[in-house]
Amino acid sequence: MSFLQKQAATVRSIRARFEEPYLVTLFGKIGQQGVKNNQEAYSPEAWRLGSFQHDLRHWVRHWSCFGCPIHDKQIGVVRYGPYAGTMVVGPGYEPTSALGPLCDLFDAEALMYFVDLADEYGFDAVGLGRVIAFAMELYQRGILTRDDLDGIDLRWGDPKGMKEIIEKIVKREGIGDILAEGVKRASEKIGKNASRYAIHIKGQEIIGRDLRSDPEAALGEATANRGADHLQGTTREEQFSAALVDSLCLCFYHAVFRRCYEHVNLYSKILNLITGWRTSPDELMKVGERVWNLERCFNVREGLTRADDTLPYRLFYEEVPSGPTKGSKIDREEFERWLDRYYEERGWDKQTGIPTSEKLRELGLEEVDEEISQIRVKFSKK
Ligand code: SF4
Repeated sequence: MSFLQKQAATVRSIRARFEEPYLVTLFGKIGQQGVKNNQEAYSPEAWRLGSFQHDLRHWVRHWSCFGCPIHDKQIGVVRYGPYAGTMVVGPGYEPTSALGPLCDLFDAEALMYFVDLADEYGFDAVGLGRVIAFAMELYQRGILTRDDLDGIDLRWGDPKGMKEIIEKIVKREGIGDILAEGVKRASEKIGKNASRYAIHIKGQEIIGRDLRSDPEAALGEATANRGADHLQGTTREEQFSAALVDSLCLCFYHAVFRRCYEHVNLYSKILNLITGWRTSPDELMKVGERVWNLERCFNVREGLTRADDTLPYRLFYEEVPSGPTKGSKIDREEFERWLDRYYEERGWDKQTGIPTSEKLRELGLEEVDEEISQIRVKFSKK
């Protein structure tokens, strides 16, 4: 059996039927599932959205991206009840988590309906779920009133309110026009301390997993170049190889997410066979490092600094209130020490988070170094 055949068989067996939503059950049990916009991290109800329920009630067939032998996607259909006829590819963990527990919704059929609606309207389901959960919490706290919500009673777990607010968002009507901007900008427009409840990193909404008991993953998401990003990992090897996999246009499921670095030998063999080049695995990892640094410099040029490599207020200052991870939160001072180490390991300036001139020149990014040198000067004068 070739490597790809073995890989396909393994992934297929792991990802049999609706494999991803099992994570909601797992994280709900171990206290790492965001519930009610991460006010809680433990949910005995999470199994209601788990894989077994989808297998039992919704599975139709497997499906694949064009030309891929793995067929790890699933098509599901709602067969009865008010949402009968809804057909969804997936749902995967992230849409389930965001439009389910984050909004305190544990109705599997309603969840399928909202995932389908997000797809139909062209929304990112994570961003949509997050922004609804954010608005629900503001409503719970009286920061947004029913009048502010154009009469919508946006209670936790209520599909009626969710449907109505989605329609407002897609049409950008009233409060929907503000929420359509995502939680960061919406919280700035709403004011009244709303930013405390906006769960995002660099303006990108975080997926539903609660990171307070997984500081390593929290650091990875805080430092990811495109904002909250659970796919890039945390260590040098993980982040550089993730950048490499993106550049090679490989699928992350083939690359087994954060463990991409284990397959760099194989990537160099494939690349060399296709192109006739003689690129070594080490050179490829250097490509990943160059991409990671280039992305960082793009952010630096756009005004991002060390201050943006951070986490939402709740993760630092509110403990998980119940369940196996009760009492967890990210220690702010320790987090800053991790950041110091993170920058040191990458050859970046600890004060600013800007890649040093030596590092950029070592990577052959002289032009980029010149472009951001003015920004370094600005910081040095502060
Ligand atoms: S997501 Fe990746 S592994 Fe899954 S079917 Fe598409 S290309 Fe294949």
